Order: sequence, then structure tokens, then C-alpha cells
Amino acid sequence: MSKKRSDLINPNHGVVIHRNFVPLYADDNYAQFFGYQNGKEILELASIFTLINPDQRDVSRSNYNEIMSGEKKPQVRSFRHYNDQGSEFFILAIEQVVNWEGEPALQIAFVDISSLIQAETKIRKSEQRFRDLIEGSIQGMVIHRNFKPLLVNQAYASMHGYESPAEILALDDISIFFTDKSPDLSLARAALILSDKQPDTKQRFKNRRKDGSCLWVELVERKVIWNDQYAIQTTLIDVTEQVIMEEKLTLMAMTDSLTNLYNRRFLMDKSNELFLSNKKNNLPLACILLDLDKFKDVNDEYGHSVGDETLIEFSKRCQTLVQEPYYIGRYGGEEFLVVMPNATVNSAYELAEKIRIKCATEPLLTSAGAFTLTVSAGVSYFKDTDNNFDQLIDRADKRLYEAKALGRNKVMI
Ligand code: GH3
Ligand code: MG
Ligand code: MG
Repeated sequence: MSKKRSDLINPNHGVVIHRNFVPLYADDNYAQFFGYQNGKEILELASIFTLINPDQRDVSRSNYNEIMSGEKKPQVRSFRHYNDQGSEFFILAIEQVVNWEGEPALQIAFVDISSLIQAETKIRKSEQRFRDLIEGSIQGMVIHRNFKPLLVNQAYASMHGYESPAEILALDDISIFFTDKSPDLSLARAALILSDKQPDTKQRFKNRRKDGSCLWVELVERKVIWNDQYAIQTTLIDVTEQVIMEEKLTLMAMTDSLTNLYNRRFLMDKSNELFLSNKKNNLPLACILLDLDKFKDVNDEYGHSVGDETLIEFSKRCQTLVQEPYYIGRYGGEEFLVVMPNATVNSAYELAEKIRIKCATEPLLTSAGAFTLTVSAGVSYFKDTDNNFDQLIDRADKRLYEAKALGRNKVMI
């Protein structure tokens, strides 16, 4: 059996046939692996045993003996080889027993897989660096494709109330963390990122933790290549505390600290806005100005703190009676303003009467006992000639004054 050079298709392949390491055939590629010019130079060697790296010679010899004696089947082996310049090669050797001039011999086809191994090592190293960077980050990070998590760090897991990244990786879909509206939004964002357009960075999203509690995050996202395909890397910063603080501040800025009703400033801002839009659209608008009767007497008789309790109890009472879209705020000390968008004057009068009657008939409970405290009210409603909300309040105030003059515990319109 003879071999021609043309039998070799891939220049990374080399073939040698030997019998007890005496070369019988070698092609040029084989020769060049080992630093020789061509196959002829190999055939001039008495033995190819010396070409084998010293640390692999024993294995090669026993391997040869076992194969040729039939104890072992020819195999595919891989090994590391250093040429005489000290360069490192990774070789795949495919053994086969052949008939050479009537006698068995061992053919070994060598494939140089160095470039493959090097490329793989390079990828693994850069992947490892990437992993180290992500896993060590104090910011939450996830790499996902269509929301299927591919890599997650500890910070991401902890943020969402999970023990370990493995628990998240076991999930099919990280969009389960998103709240109602965000899946659509996230799909749109993902599409933008994958088409190399940057969505607004630092946008805030509300996520749900494992226990259902709320997690606010700011995101920075980018397209990455993960296992040869595009994926999205998301970096998350937990801004929950910041959001809670902001919500508290917003609430504080709009509420009255004693009664928890809207404070005067917010009440007026909201109502001025409402007035303008109602006027523009020619929609009805009514308001009720309420003032507790003889409230000073409560303070004088029971003390200021019981006075405060009374204001709180009265406010709670009103909150149950004033329902959306109507709203109530503390206009001044013991004066309250109910604003009723789109309400007719009749419904405003009815609501004022409801509040008045409840106060007149059901005593308020305080630490000093239960006592009845009546309320007077002035009702006003939007007229075409009104240019601002204050004009409505002025008229309500006049009606209120009349109610007081008429003996209190009255609603005037
Ligand atoms: P009228 O029926 O004419 O409205 O009599 P009144 O006593 O309710 O009216 P007046 O305006 O004379 O007194 C209002 C009182 O409300 C005086 C003030 O000390 C008290 N007041 C205002 N704000 C508060 C508060 O936040 N807490 C307490 N305890 N009292 C307050
Ligand atoms: Mg008053
Ligand atoms: Mg009063």
C-alpha cells in the first residue's frame, strides 16, 4: 500500500507509517510538524522514536506493542508536542493498523489542532475575565437572551431575594421580576439595544422580589456577544431606598402633618390646575368651605391637644364621606375645603349636608370623651365669568359667613 501526497487534503494533517518506530512512510506535512523539510528526510531516520517527546516515549512504546499484539484497539489520542524550537503543538493522533508490504504496520494520522485549542483558550480566558468582572461586581448584573438568564451575579440574585445566582439561572425567564407594565417596555428596550440604539439609560423600573416586595432599579444595558450570539447585558442599581425617600418627601410636601389631608399649598395648586382645565372645557366645578363651629371652646375647655384630636377625627370622618374624584384638604386651622370636579351644585349641597348632619348627630370620640361638634358650610360653584379658583373660594367664604350669622350648623348656597 502506498500513499501519495494528493491523499492529504488538509495541510494540518500529517501521516506516518512505522513498524516498531522504523519509518516506512511519512508525508511532508508530518515531516514539517517535526522540523524536517519533507517525508524523505524522515525515511532516512533509523527510528522516529526520538521525535516523540521524552515524557511520552514510554506510553507510545507500550501503546504500539499493545495495538500490534491485538491487546488494544487503535485509538484517537491527543497530546501536547514541543518541536525542537520549543514551540507547543496540540496534536490529535488517529491510529490505524495497516498492511505495509505484506506485514502489519501502524499508521498514525496527525492533526494539528493547536490553532483550535489556542482560540478556545483565548475565548475561555476572556470569558473568565468577563465572568470575574461580573461576579465580583457590587452592582447587579445579568446577561440574558430573550430574558432567559445566561449569566447572573450574586448582587443580582440578592437584590431579587434569591440566595444564589444558580437559583436565578434555573429560571426560564427573568421578566417574571418585572411589574405589570414593564414586560412590553422591556421588549421594546431589548429590541432597541439589539439594534444598537441606546434607550434612555438610568430609566427607573419597578421589579418584584421573590417575596413579592417592590424593588426599584436603574438600568444600564448593552449588547454583548455570548456564546457566538447576541445577548443583552443589564447592570442594575438598586434605588429602592431613594425612591421610598422621594415618595415620602412628595407625600410630606402635599399633606398636612396633623390631619393627613392635603395641605393648603397642594390643595390650591391642584385646584387652580383643575379650575383652568374645567374652564377650558366648560365643565362644572363646585366647592364646599367647612368651618367647625365654636372650635375655640373645645381648646379652651379640653386643651389644645384634645383640639388636635378633634381635628383628626373630623378629618377621618370627612375622608370617608368625600370620595374620588372629589377631594378635601385643610384650608386653615379648623377650616376645610372640599373640591368637586364636574359636580353639580345640587350634589355639592347634598355632600355638605351629609357632613353637617353626621357632625350634628354623631359625637366625635376623643380622649376627653365624646362630644358633638357642629360644622357650618358655604357652597359655591363655577360661573362662566370666573377667571380663577380664588373667586369660587371667596363666594364659598361669603356663604359660610352667612351660615355662621344664621346661627351655625348650616349649609348656605
Ligand atoms: P366659629 O364658630 O365662629 O368658627 O368659632 P371658632 O371658635 O371655631 O372660630 P375662631 O376663628 O374664633 O377660632 C378658631 C380656633 O381654632 C382658634 C384656634 O386656636 C383653633 N385652632 C386653629 N388651628 C388649630 C390646631 O391646629 N389645633 C388646635 N387645637 N386648635 C386650632
Ligand atoms: Mg375659622
Ligand atoms: Mg370655627
